[in-house]
Amino acid sequence: MRIASITLRKLKMRLKSPLETSFGVTHDRAVVLVELLADGLTGWSEVAASEGPFYNSETRDTAWLIMILGKEFGSASEIPCIFTAIRGHEMARAAMENALSDVEAQQKNLSLARLLGGTQPEIKWGVSLGLEATPEVLLERVAVELRAGYQRIKLQIKPGKDIEVVRAVRNAHPGMLLSVDANSAYTRVELEHLKRFDEFNLLMMEQPLWWDDIANQAKLQRHLKTSLCLDESIRRVRDAETALDLGARRIINIKVGRVGGHSTAREIQSLCLARNLPVWCGGILECGIGRAYNIAVASLPGYTLPGDVSASNRYWEEDVVDPPIEVSPRGTIQVPASPGLGYHVRRDLIEHRTTEKETWRAR
Ligand code: MG
Repeated sequence: MRIASITLRKLKMRLKSPLETSFGVTHDRAVVLVELLADGLTGWSEVAASEGPFYNSETRDTAWLIMILGKEFGSASEIPCIFTAIRGHEMARAAMENALSDVEAQQKNLSLARLLGGTQPEIKWGVSLGLEATPEVLLERVAVELRAGYQRIKLQIKPGKDIEVVRAVRNAHPGMLLSVDANSAYTRVELEHLKRFDEFNLLMMEQPLWWDDIANQAKLQRHLKTSLCLDESIRRVRDAETALDLGARRIINIKVGRVGGHSTAREIQSLCLARNLPVWCGGILECGIGRAYNIAVASLPGYTLPGDVSASNRYWEEDVVDPPIEVSPRGTIQVPASPGLGYHVRRDLIEHRTTEKETWRAR
C-alpha cells in the first residue's frame, strides 16, 4: 500500500448536552479526521485528541503528523516502525495506523474487526455519565441509560462530588455494575477518603491519582478492596507491564488512541489475556469513525467487561457515519461484518462541519 495523499480536517461537532468531568465542562468537540488515500482506496480515521492538553499532552493542533506520506507498507501494523523516533503523539500516530488499517481491510475484503483478530460478533457496552448538579438529576440520567439497555454505569467523580453521589446511585441500584472515573482528581494524601469507596461494591475505580503515575497507584491498590483501573498512565506496552508487575491495577482500560494505535492495543490485550486480566475499551467522545474503531478493537478476545462506546445518538444530533452506531435493548452492539470500517462515511456532513482542511500529496 503506497500512501498517495493525506487530508486532515477539523470538524466542529456540538454535543447534544454538555458533559462535565473533573477536567471541566465540554460543549463542543473539534473532531479531527484523517482521510488517507492508498492504492486508490480511501481510509478514514479519527484523532482522539481533545481541544486542550488536559487528558494527555496532545491537542487538535498537534495532530498534523503526516510523515508516512509517500511511504509503502505491506500492512498497517508496520506503521509504528516509522514513528519510533517520535516521542509521544500517540493519538496522531494511532490515527495514521488506523486509516491505513481501513484501506488494508478493504483490500483484503475483511471487516476491520476480522483484520485485527476480533472474534466476538456482538459486544457489551456501558455508559459514562458526567457530573450533574444534584444526585437527583444524576439518578434520572442513570434510569434513562438503564432503560436503554446499557450493562454498566460509570460515574465521573471529583472531590466534593463523589461519596454522596455514588451512595445515592448505589442505594437506588444495589445490583448494577457500577464504576467510577476520577481522571486523576485525587492525591495520595486522600487515602482514607478513597478507602470509603470500598463500601459501594464498585466494579472498578479508574485513575484516581496522577495521570503519569503508576507507582503510587500500586501503593494505593494495596490499601483498597476496590479494583483500580489505569487509563491515562498507560501509553505503551511497557507501562502496562510495569503496572501489572507492581500490582497497580486489576483491570485494564484500553483506548486505541491513547496507546498509539491498534498494534500497541493488541500487544496490551495479549499481555492481559496471558495474565488472565479482563480488559475493556474506553472512549474519548469520538464521532462515529472513532467509535467504529473502538467496536472493532473490542471484538478481540479478552474484552470481557462492558466498554464505553455508547450509541451515536447519546452524544450527537447527527453522526458522520451511516447507519449511526446503535446499542440494542440488551446493551450490545453488533460488530459490522462488511469490509473496512463497516459504516458508510457521510462525506456530505463531514464537508458541512469542516472548519479547517489541509491535503498533502506524495510526489
Ligand atoms: Mg478514564
